[in-house]
Amino acid sequence: MNLELLVREANLAVTRYEKSIDQIVENNFNKVLTAFRRGRVGESHFQSSTGYGYGDIGRTALEEIFADVFRTEDALVRQQIVSGTHAITLCLFGSLLPGDEMLSIGRPYDTLHQVIGTDRKEPGTLREMGITYREFPLEDDGVDTLKLVASLKPETKLVAIQRSRGYDWRSSLPVKEIGRIVQAVKKARPEMIVFVDNCYGEFVEEKEPSEVGADLIAGSLIKNPGGGIAPGGGYIVGRHDLVTRASYRLTAPGIGKEVGPSLGSSRLFFQGLFSAPHVVREALCGAVFASSIFLNLGLEVSPGPDEVRTDIIQAIKMENPERLLAFCQGIQKYSPVDSFATPEPWDMPGYSDPVVMAAGAFVQGSSIELSADAPMRKPYIVYLQGGTCREHVKAAVTGTIGDLLAKGLL
Ligand SMILES: *Cc1c(COP(=O)(O)O)cnc(C)c1O
Repeated sequence: MNLELLVREANLAVTRYEKSIDQIVENNFNKVLTAFRRGRVGESHFQSSTGYGYGDIGRTALEEIFADVFRTEDALVRQQIVSGTHAITLCLFGSLLPGDEMLSIGRPYDTLHQVIGTDRKEPGTLREMGITYREFPLEDDGVDTLKLVASLKPETKLVAIQRSRGYDWRSSLPVKEIGRIVQAVKKARPEMIVFVDNCYGEFVEEKEPSEVGADLIAGSLIKNPGGGIAPGGGYIVGRHDLVTRASYRLTAPGIGKEVGPSLGSSRLFFQGLFSAPHVVREALCGAVFASSIFLNLGLEVSPGPDEVRTDIIQAIKMENPERLLAFCQGIQKYSPVDSFATPEPWDMPGYSDPVVMAAGAFVQGSSIELSADAPMRKPYIVYLQGGTCREHVKAAVTGTIGDLLAKGLL
């Protein structure tokens, strides 16, 4: 085993890959910069508000910029949205009424099962509200749109699409494929709401799902669009009426977007969005590095180093629980924060299997910073993502592989 050789090969893979995304990154950067200029962002927008947060001009400008970047009518961008799951939940509870059906393309992300009420009969779920739920199969080559359209029922109100792979061994959906689904659905049923869980997909491709017809999309600010700088929060962008409905769930009907203090952190959201296209580039290059090196070590990886990427996640099949755990512990060990901690699997709220998470991040749980997590279930796949600079990913992956080799786990 010559680690040096593997590193050299991985570096070459990164160079090849980076060439292929250069133009996308630059276009996304220019899109963001143009939105800042059009929105006339000034230092006054970094002022703080407290209490109700009435008339917070920074908050309003930030939402205008998000709407511009995502090419939507409206946006809700708030630190009071505590996570991606929360943002998605606001969209679902805002858009769906008793008697409506939600149709999910593929199995949704782990934390959403309890929101929908599929796994357990918890209170407060969509199911308890009288909203029904169904899944439509997502095949390896995408979605059979003819069958999808034929399966729509009169009560189907919303079609939900998850862009990223989440905790599944499947490819992330290209925006083009999302566009094809939207077109098919809208042709048959123009009034249908198409919602996209955009987590981990932002700025990876040239366009966002909202640019190919999605009505409403949501994501987390401790992932791609926070650029590793936003201290928390979530965003929702889309059609004005649907964003308003979501905002009524976040605050209260009639109050909506008018309240929400920025509590001194406005600048971090602006600066995070400004950095996001570049940080996504770094995360992608780090992912390609990991993909190449583990592939050459004989493990299954998805995507492969030379595959097109449409999210920042790198899945690696670790095959056994010992190697999986040791990998996560290695990533933790090479983190700038809490490098001395040892991650163990735990019953995280919202997840049905114990989850092990390595996250030595400046912002708790931030996964645009280098992080690795895995539900402890067969075939022991670890999901590696983030890295605000590729040097960190390279150092952590290389160091961890050294440790795995020393322990006889590779
Ligand atoms: C991260 C993620 C979410 C939301 O997760 P939070 O931890 O609640 O922010 C939802 N869907 C997908 C695909 C995700 O990757």
